[in-house]
Amino acid sequence: MQFRFAAGFGGLLLAVLLFAAASVPAPAGAQGLSAATKGAPLPGQGPRAYVNIVIDDLPNLELWSRLADDCDAFGMKTTLALNTAKATPGDYAVMAKHVANGHEIANHTRDHVPVAPGGVVRLRYFDPRAKSAAAVVDQSAGKLRITVDDPPRTVAELDLSEEGRTPTLKQLVEALNDVRGVTAELGDPYYANIHARFLAERDRVDIFFKNGLVPLYVNVAEHARYEMAGGKADIEAGLPGTACQSMVYPFLVTDAVSRQVARELGLTCGRVGTAGFAALGAPAGYDLMQVYAGKPRDLFGPDPASPEFAAKVEAFLKKLKEIGGVCCLYSHGPDEFTNDQWKALLPLLARDKDVAYVTLHGLAAYVTSTARLQDGRYFLPQGR
Ligand SMILES: [Zn+2]
Repeated sequence: MQFRFAAGFGGLLLAVLLFAAASVPAPAGAQGLSAATKGAPLPGQGPRAYVNIVIDDLPNLELWSRLADDCDAFGMKTTLALNTAKATPGDYAVMAKHVANGHEIANHTRDHVPVAPGGVVRLRYFDPRAKSAAAVVDQSAGKLRITVDDPPRTVAELDLSEEGRTPTLKQLVEALNDVRGVTAELGDPYYANIHARFLAERDRVDIFFKNGLVPLYVNVAEHARYEMAGGKADIEAGLPGTACQSMVYPFLVTDAVSRQVARELGLTCGRVGTAGFAALGAPAGYDLMQVYAGKPRDLFGPDPASPEFAAKVEAFLKKLKEIGGVCCLYSHGPDEFTNDQWKALLPLLARDKDVAYVTLHGLAAYVTSTARLQDGRYFLPQGR
């Protein structure tokens, strides 16, 4: 749950501040998608809403490949969010076939790690004979030192470099737990593959505690740049001739720093989860770097054959058309939503001829050509 907290914290804080300042609730429906979401219909004569279907993660390549085939029958375009580190030439050959048909491979980082993690490693040191202890992150030397007492005596020195024995945070935590007196854990299991060399420089962090654990952080910009630039480079090398321009943030986590890095890398849009923006026509504008995505299982239920399911799909599309909807439907593997469930959902979606089903880059292309950017958010021409 920590990552959801991290993702929603900015919005929550803003909402709390607005509430405190004006003693009235923040305007409803600025983000997310609910009955309360407000927005103006899209301008012009084109589709009334734009939806991107996304499958997340390399292990779900086969499900996505079958889904892309099924979508071709309806002329719908889809996106695979690819974490690239373990993708093989054979995997890229499968992807290339669908990319040639207009589908998309989006950046999901190289190592499938949150680009804006919180405290990544939590640790403490205790020995009844010692008086103090500290953790020192020496980034220029590429070392994490544990020192005891004053003047400090180094009791452990761990290598943070790619070439050392502990290049990832998972390996670092295991090695820390082998140091007598030290207890360490990952801040979140999702942080396991983060590279240890991105730990942020720290002079002396007091870790002399019998019980409580103390967090260490990463340099968010450096870590995010490595993961997003790496994912982009891998995709463009694996699929020559394609440009990777869309970001799908792993574990739905992003912050202002990582979004700025994404822009600097030439990524034009970013997808989060249900805390993102669903209405291009929203009164407060639309942030293309935080696009809403909901899961069909959560939105419509597990049984596409049921009348309730079809009714929920219809209501979802109706709502999108009212608010100028530009957003995503996403899922992972068959444990969440199978190819058969997708196959039953597609005709329900395709039945509505006023909704366009495009890639994530297609969403971005529509938004940037239709709305104008103001204060970092897109507004429709008629919105002002
Ligand atoms: Zn993922």
